Amino acid sequence: MADLNTPVRYIRGIGEKKAQALGKLGVFSLYDLISYFPRKYEDRSVYKPIALAQNGESVCVRALVADTPRLTRIRRGLELVKLRIADESGLAELTYFNQPYVKDNLHRGESYVFYGKMEVSGSRRSMVNPIYEREGAEGGVTGRIVPLYRLCAGLNQRVVMQAVRQGLDACGELLPEPLPEELRQRCGLAQARYAYENIHFPADFGALALARRRLIFEELFVLACALDRMRGQRVRDGGILLAPVEMEPFWASLPFRPTGAQRRAVAEALGDMRSGAVMNRLVQGDVGSGKTLVAAALIWAVWKNGLSSAFMAPTEILAEQHFATLSGLLSPLGLRVGRLTGALTAKEKREVKAALKAGELDLVVGTHALFSADVEYARLGLVVTDEQHRFGVEQRSALIGKGGRPHVLVMSATPIPHTLALIIYGDLDVSVIDELPPGRQKVDTFPVDESYRARLDNFIRRLTSEGRQVFVVCPMVEENEDLPVKLKSAQEHAAELAARFPELKVACVHGRMKAKDKDAVMAAFAAGETDILVATTVIEVGVDVPNAALMIVENAERFGLSQLHQLRGRVGRGPHKSYCVLVSDAESEEVRARLAIMRKTNDGFQIAEEDLRLRGPGDFFGSRQHGLPETHIADLGADTQILQRAKAEADALLREDPELAWPEHALLRERVEKLFQSGRDSFN
Ligand code: ADP
Ligand code: MG
Repeated sequence: MADLNTPVRYIRGIGEKKAQALGKLGVFSLYDLISYFPRKYEDRSVYKPIALAQNGESVCVRALVADTPRLTRIRRGLELVKLRIADESGLAELTYFNQPYVKDNLHRGESYVFYGKMEVSGSRRSMVNPIYEREGAEGGVTGRIVPLYRLCAGLNQRVVMQAVRQGLDACGELLPEPLPEELRQRCGLAQARYAYENIHFPADFGALALARRRLIFEELFVLACALDRMRGQRVRDGGILLAPVEMEPFWASLPFRPTGAQRRAVAEALGDMRSGAVMNRLVQGDVGSGKTLVAAALIWAVWKNGLSSAFMAPTEILAEQHFATLSGLLSPLGLRVGRLTGALTAKEKREVKAALKAGELDLVVGTHALFSADVEYARLGLVVTDEQHRFGVEQRSALIGKGGRPHVLVMSATPIPHTLALIIYGDLDVSVIDELPPGRQKVDTFPVDESYRARLDNFIRRLTSEGRQVFVVCPMVEENEDLPVKLKSAQEHAAELAARFPELKVACVHGRMKAKDKDAVMAAFAAGETDILVATTVIEVGVDVPNAALMIVENAERFGLSQLHQLRGRVGRGPHKSYCVLVSDAESEEVRARLAIMRKTNDGFQIAEEDLRLRGPGDFFGSRQHGLPETHIADLGADTQILQRAKAEADALLREDPELAWPEHALLRERVEKLFQSGRDSFN
């Protein structure tokens, strides 16, 4: 007897080779197999008499083979089988290309179902390569909605479909039901068995919708439970109580006035820290909106209360940069600021750790090294994490576990839809910085094509002769001959530029370099030692080079709008008028429309919305940038209503049974722990 863990080899028709191919798709057991959901569906449920099918319509027809199929060889490598079929309404001519065996499979005078696109020209009707089978055939591929799966070499649709069919027959009854019965009924969700059956072999589109909804809900519900448990119980009481702090002295110490949005964010966070509960706040603001200053203000207020803070950055270079910025702002006010980064020697690290333990530092800036097991904090009051675009869920919880229950401030430049923020961050509070510091100039943006190359070169000459620096971003690291279109590679382009501008210093940085080398090149550029930095998107993650005034993006069509926006945010950070040039030879209307949006607006939220609209959420949340585990069926960007409901239900359930210890939650617990395990590598 098969069960869900039985290897796919068990299935009739799946031998060594096919099992290996399935393995490439992540399918090993029967459970994997029936959890391998179709990519899309083809509606083959419509039957029509031959004479009523419209030109171009995809239909099933029931018909007799009217003559003996004829095989002809047109030339080497091209064989045709031709035959005619008939029903009561009329005739159609069929042609099969390079399928000589069709000749022997279809017999004159016998009846079959054919599915394909009908072509009508005058009174002549024809179909090319229609699918055929005997009516009522087992595991039929006509007369219904047919699943289409993502394939790889060694598999075809029929093989996968028939394997899934057998898998469902063998153990559909054994499917676990991780959703508590009461919840399932209350939320109007289909049963597991029904959902798995209909996601593969939908009885009709209504059944498919029910199946999808149930499976999406299940996936998001498990994800919400996992994230919630990983974060640990949100501590509602027992937050460190801050005494009121008069902020004016801090504001007065700055070389500029804070924006209204910055003041508001600080006031909101201070309110949290005076409430008695532990603060859990997200500060969301576009690149350049001044989030660091909000953090600095709060670190200062916490210090006024005799407590220390930790500031965690996503990369070494950002940690160094934040260290420089924050000590510049805070040391003059009397705070002792330290750093814990890869740049330190082992001895220096030991010293910093000792100082932290002894309470001799008021602020430490670093990367995830801040939460390694051997780092102990005295009087830790506030943890700030700058996430840029990644959501370091696990790292954050590790840091939060340190030294009691510090307040938490998360900073993010990614405009995440609120529902998604909820599931990622839990029931946190959100401050939005919707105002840029005054005097910030709009970065003028120009979409251009290759014909502008000479003018662009002159522009580079002019700006660099004025002392400015230039970023050039390419979509690839190295030349790749295999790609159909020629894409600029960072290395090659850097070499070209170096040849065209012998008087300028050109450097190149890309993701395949060692972190140390990367940081060195970036640091040299930040210090003004190089004029042009050619890069892949590694520079997206915010290094501040106020002297850079031109951002050139090559093959701009390859980038998402939000990504282009982040890239553009690298310039215009200083007093100099700045520009962004988007080079693209792509002619498609869609690309033109997208690049035009970049010219029109500098508003990151508006751009994110347009991006979502034009490209769909898949790309927006693509490349696993968000650090969440991959979802199989749910779309984090689109399924927001189900997401909201799943999140609310997960919260409610965990309030009742935080450890998922109840017997009726055993299966759910298993699923949550499994996700937890597989997520370990990706939750950061
Ligand atoms: P981000 O939100 O992208 O992290 P930063 O905190 O790095 O933005 O701030 C971007 C730049 O704006 C910094 O150079 C910072 O000194 C400057 N800045 C921040 N707040 C103000 C302000 N209120 N007035 C003028 N400049 C500011
Ligand atoms: Mg920043």
